[in-house]
Amino acid sequence: MNSLRNLLFSFLLIASLYLAAPGEAADFESRFQEIVQNATNEQLYRFLYALPKGGDLHNHQDGANWPDWWYQVATDPTKTHGDTFYTLTKIASPNPSGGAPLFFTTIPRWHYERLPDAEKAQYQALSSLDAATKANWLASLWLGQPGDGREKFFEQIWPRLGGLVRNPYVSSESLVESMKHFGEEGVRYIETQNLVFGLGSFFEYKDQDGNTLSLDQVADIYRHRLQQSDAVATGVTVRFQAVVIRFAPTAEDGVEAAYAFVNRHRDLWVGINMAGREDNEKGFPARFLSVYREMEGKYPPISLSIHAGESDEPNHHVRDTLYLGAKRIGHGVNLLSDPDTMLHMREDKDLIEINLISNQLLGYVPKFADHPFPRYLRFGIPVCLNTDDRGMWGSTMTDEYYVAVKNFNLSWEEIVQLGRNSLEYSFVQPDQKQRLLDAYNQAVKEFEQKYSGDWKALLAAVNATDSPYAEREFGIKLPLPGK
Ligand SMILES: [Zn+2]
Repeated sequence: MNSLRNLLFSFLLIASLYLAAPGEAADFESRFQEIVQNATNEQLYRFLYALPKGGDLHNHQDGANWPDWWYQVATDPTKTHGDTFYTLTKIASPNPSGGAPLFFTTIPRWHYERLPDAEKAQYQALSSLDAATKANWLASLWLGQPGDGREKFFEQIWPRLGGLVRNPYVSSESLVESMKHFGEEGVRYIETQNLVFGLGSFFEYKDQDGNTLSLDQVADIYRHRLQQSDAVATGVTVRFQAVVIRFAPTAEDGVEAAYAFVNRHRDLWVGINMAGREDNEKGFPARFLSVYREMEGKYPPISLSIHAGESDEPNHHVRDTLYLGAKRIGHGVNLLSDPDTMLHMREDKDLIEINLISNQLLGYVPKFADHPFPRYLRFGIPVCLNTDDRGMWGSTMTDEYYVAVKNFNLSWEEIVQLGRNSLEYSFVQPDQKQRLLDAYNQAVKEFEQKYSGDWKALLAAVNATDSPYAEREFGIKLPLPGK
């Protein structure tokens, strides 16, 4: 009888400890503030690395790859589907094809083989670069040097990548590499922008022999790659948005083609976006009003998230973009200058996809303290954090959270809301969304319970990795992924 009573007592003791845990979790705000105030930079970084992060709703698939992931994939014939890449390492004078060539423009074998010999001599196989040239090739693909900014990003890095991103085997392999890294830092969903619409025959997808691939073939290559076990094992759910290059002369045709394409591939493609320099006035949102109206009448609804307000000067582009039908706005940096639209977004609960590091590196805000993010957050406009072209910043989602926590004095409640918004506002199918939200809520609960314990010991055990951005900007010294 005694032993039965003891057993019952032990059971009640264990149950009461277990039940006490949610109470501690509810009080996690004070624990979080204790950590922020007392942690070293490295401890805080480890904490934010381990943090469950929900989704990344604003990133460009080909801009999300760190240069060394491109290099690994592009020099591995099992990943290129048999393609070989060549990169421009010297420039003959005069340049055989005229114009100003761009160092480290990388091209596929079929392109290289069609060049006259004088031009071929300017290229080297990517796999044969010596250490110093390889280091320069890598440096040419991201903003890691003082003075790097918008010009290098738009006018050099993207053209350099052109030959790689046109091969969907290479870009889908790079996507899986990117998913692995997102998964390791607790990102569970990415809604990445891919496929280029609006440029007509200027931008076509090619196989390793230079044959043009239809967009439906490209979709099948992605679909197949995402079903492989290593992609599934990342734990990251992926959906895509088709992207229209907004300033192209044929951008309206691109919107029509994007609607037709997304409508045929609704399992993976869940939305349409428009991107491209907003300081190129040819891409202003009101230009597209009639084509979006027409497409709305032609197809069952397709969600729109559109870049707007990534701009130095005030204008009504965010308002005009909402009027096109967008429920999410990418960047929204200049929205502060448009109070009526701010009030409307708060009322209508439209989300702004915030990209802190991108906006600072490309010079849309001089420093983080000038970023409108905390104003939107505390004004009541839904926001979430995103990485945009993190491959070109050498950064991670952890870095975005680190910047936000360090600069804007976030509460724990705000942090969890950012993660939840990144899933609630996703365009993923409703059953998947519910599954992702349930998993996020559970992960947050477990995280709170865990870090209610001895947080210093727990953080020391987090297997966190660093990023080139965090090393340079925060002085964090952890191993880089894969190193
Ligand atoms: Zn973007």
